[in-house]
Amino acid sequence: MTAGLVLVHGGAGTNAADLHEAAVAGTRRAASLGLGRLIELGDREDACVEAAIAAVRSLEDDPAFNAGRGACMTSLGQFEVDAGIMRSRDRQSGAVASVHELADACELARAVMERSKHALLVGDGARRFAEACGVGRFGRELVWTEKAEQRYEQARLGQTSIDNRADTVGAIALDRRGQLCALGSTGGVLLKLPGRVGDTPLIGAGFYADATLGAALGTGVGEAIMGRVGCYELLRRAAAGVGIQAAAEQLCQEIHRDTGAAVGFIAVGPDGSVGMAHCSAHMSWALAREGVEVVGALTVGPAPSMPG
Ligand code: ASP
Repeated sequence: MTAGLVLVHGGAGTNAADLHEAAVAGTRRAASLGLGRLIELGDREDACVEAAIAAVRSLEDDPAFNAGRGACMTSLGQFEVDAGIMRSRDRQSGAVASVHELADACELARAVMERSKHALLVGDGARRFAEACGVGRFGRELVWTEKAEQRYEQARLGQTSIDNRADTVGAIALDRRGQLCALGSTGGVLLKLPGRVGDTPLIGAGFYADATLGAALGTGVGEAIMGRVGCYELLRRAAAGVGIQAAAEQLCQEIHRDTGAAVGFIAVGPDGSVGMAHCSAHMSWALAREGVEVVGALTVGPAPSMPG
């Protein structure tokens, strides 16, 4: 039986100094909650899905992060969120994009994976599907935060850079059956045009999970990650013999060199090996493994090595 693990990220970019502690505490909490769920479910089918959901729900509810409550605003001061999930056992995936004022996009992405024939639903159609399934908590008051409002006002007035903001979220879980689930959720990028979709809900770019390749999540400037189909590329390189940590580092450095964009990846191999790299000022992350104390940090760029 495989020893389970949950690897979480809290976004690649620049974390405001007053949110460093919250980012570390939030990612550690999420990884612990995910692992707790994994252990509770033992060798049940799709324990990895439940664990990833538990971790990401905790991050979506945490106002320190750019997902759910705490999501950033579009150029019109609205909230449009994206999420994507994939499980390795049958390569089923589900994603939602550009959904207004949704506090738990991870649950809706999961519903698309488990309860529809489709892989990606957007906008009003996603909302209608959510209502039909009885899934999703909607409302501006559920996603609005003072942090997001302040950033929006400052960015609009040109008082702060809108680039390289961190704090999108994601989790990869490996369960006792050896199955993997990758799940990411985001408000996207600050001042994005209405309707803009990044890498997070795009299979292969922002997320991927496969029984022989492993699972990966991307974070940072979505357009740069999409151009390289980041997660799939990382896992193919790892499986070709590069190793998961080296593949994550290589790809981050290449994308950053070619585009100048802040990017990061986390990845887990089918054997439980983990990789994490970023080319950005910061990235918060946490790793919870069965029988081992949770580790986590907010690391400073460009490309730290992953312990354990
Ligand atoms: N990748 C996300 C996007 O482009 C944002 C992020 O990870 O910070 O929408």
